[in-house]
Amino acid sequence: MSDVQEVRTEIVRVARLLRERGLAIGTSGNVGARLADGRIAITPSSMDYDEMTAGDIVIVEADGSPSEGDHRPSSEVRIHLEVFAARPDVRAIVHSHSPFATTWAATRREIPAVHYVMALLVRPGRDTLRVAPYATFGTAELARNAVTTLGDDHAVLLANHGAVAVAGSVASALGRAERVEELAMLAWRAEQIGGATLVTAVELDQARNQMERFPRQRSPSI
Ligand SMILES: [Zn+2]
Repeated sequence: MSDVQEVRTEIVRVARLLRERGLAIGTSGNVGARLADGRIAITPSSMDYDEMTAGDIVIVEADGSPSEGDHRPSSEVRIHLEVFAARPDVRAIVHSHSPFATTWAATRREIPAVHYVMALLVRPGRDTLRVAPYATFGTAELARNAVTTLGDDHAVLLANHGAVAVAGSVASALGRAERVEELAMLAWRAEQIGGATLVTAVELDQARNQMERFPRQRSPSI
């Protein structure tokens, strides 16, 4: 099986999981991956995840021009193009409108480190999940805001919109999208009972070291 076909199949699998796990409502969100030849595979615009097959996944060149596929790429393809261009380490992106993350994004406040899983989402030294400034969906401005605010982190919120998670594989990007949703849910709940005592940046570094000592715990199951 070709690299292209494997990646298309994996994108469809993860896109369906987005909905099964409550991270996507309707056709919101998208999943993309960088192919070995540098092109980008991404879910099509406005297609129900249940009806989607591997052949529906759109392939575009690294500059966004069409390469393969009968459909238009997701309206947020520009975010994928910008992130892949800026981050050679990133091979997959999951964008979601998951309920708690999107609620938090509506406040335009950074999510604080209410749980050590923050260590999976941000670079060493950072202790909050940041929020990219608002811009109209599907625009180059939103893509620029997303990539600038993401920096070297592994996830970012989009103000009044949703979240973006990046990783070295599609499955890992889904795992990070789930962790973003978990963190937003916990932060929201902690606020209801007076607020959390936060994990510090140093403690997050210690958690990250621990994850490296126990690599299996780096999986989305922790
Ligand atoms: Zn969106």
